[in-house]
Amino acid sequence: MELIKAQKGTQDILPGQSGNWQTVEDVMRDEAALHGFGEIRTPVFEDTRLFQRSVGETTDVVQKEMYTFNDKGGRSITLRPEGTAGVVRALLEHALYNNGLPVKMYYFTTCYRYENTQAGRLREFHQFGAELFGSNSPSTDAELIGLAKGIFDRLNIQNLRLEINSIGCPTCRAKFYDALKAYFAQYQDELCETCRGRLERNPMRILDCKSPVCSKIAAGAPKILDYLCDDCKAHFEQVQTYLNAVGIEYTVNPTIVRGLDYYTNTVFEFISNDLGAQSTLCGGGRYNGLVEEMGGQKMPALGFAMGIERLMMVMEKQKIEMPEPKRCDLFIASLGAAAHLEAFKLAAELRKSSIMAACDENDRGLKAQMKYADKIGAKYSMVLGDDELANQSAELKNMETGEKKKINLAGNFVEQFVCMQTEQGDLAF
Ligand code: ATP
Ligand code: MG
Repeated sequence: MELIKAQKGTQDILPGQSGNWQTVEDVMRDEAALHGFGEIRTPVFEDTRLFQRSVGETTDVVQKEMYTFNDKGGRSITLRPEGTAGVVRALLEHALYNNGLPVKMYYFTTCYRYENTQAGRLREFHQFGAELFGSNSPSTDAELIGLAKGIFDRLNIQNLRLEINSIGCPTCRAKFYDALKAYFAQYQDELCETCRGRLERNPMRILDCKSPVCSKIAAGAPKILDYLCDDCKAHFEQVQTYLNAVGIEYTVNPTIVRGLDYYTNTVFEFISNDLGAQSTLCGGGRYNGLVEEMGGQKMPALGFAMGIERLMMVMEKQKIEMPEPKRCDLFIASLGAAAHLEAFKLAAELRKSSIMAACDENDRGLKAQMKYADKIGAKYSMVLGDDELANQSAELKNMETGEKKKINLAGNFVEQFVCMQTEQGDLAF
């Protein structure tokens, strides 16, 4: 029969890899907690209008990439393409802003985008993200950037650069839009079809277009930094003061605009030199208008999301050492039904004391069982047969050194095992 394969742009994370994911996730959780962020988990699917309203009708995500379908009840449903919209919806639905400001939340999500797949560009991918609601203080911009930086530092990631920009507020953006429209109008016939449509509705989106022709034209476009109003200029300067105060290095890149419509003021990206074309590891910024636009009160906010697949790719490329996966402490081989029952009981007892134990589950010969013990990297092994049961005595073998030690099956097994591990210098547990 034909084997059904995983869908294009999706990946399995296998047991041999998931340990590394867990290590990375643990660092993210811990660093987020240190910064006072609590975890939020929102549904994988939402009302399609949620993303149209927040991400924006003229973005690549909404125009080209969303997984949208009608459910059996005739509702238009979309698999979340990003994490912020659901978090803002939950903030409003549960009035989380009543619990003291700022509200700080982090999330792990899978995201779904119908993209042209390549290395680092998938259709299902994972993000870690953080959002902070209810402060316009430039110090929170620096704090959030510091959270992302703290994670990269603790994971020992090298060759990252932080680029920041400000894309202002609706007031300064009005003048900027006029300048952009005038500029892009000269190239109207060369722009891709999507961007031609964006020219009137949202010319800033052209700056983020991935088509080579549009990016080339965009390179010469007016720069938002030249159009910032006094307040936005001062805010951006203050963000830099706070970043400088904690020694976070950055460069100002006036071409960063980010791919989603909701951003205002500060935007930033962490970019890796080790990723080829898909080089942005983390992107974020301030979105002071979004909460109100989603039906809430006016509330400044900001956030970021990092792509975990891209992060894992960089870590692999940089050969960053990860903790060894946990290995089986004791494999109990058994010969015959009575011995298997005893092995099964001992393994269960060991696990209750946090000792990783396994026994044969396939009624194999001794040789095949020991081969399996080797394969799973068992540190110690023991054989149980009729003789061992009759004498209530068995031998524990150190699989690395071959050293053997008698063990009394009538005594406290766990205690004897732990004692031997300590004697042999294996303090790994
Ligand atoms: P890009 O410009 O690369 O398309 P984006 O601006 O669409 O990225 P965001 O929406 O800001 O990306 O998502 C934040 C992070 O999620 C990105 O910096 C990246 O690390 C990761 N990411 C985005 N799209 C994908 C994807 N299709 N596959 C894997 N990771 C992705
Ligand atoms: Mg994208």
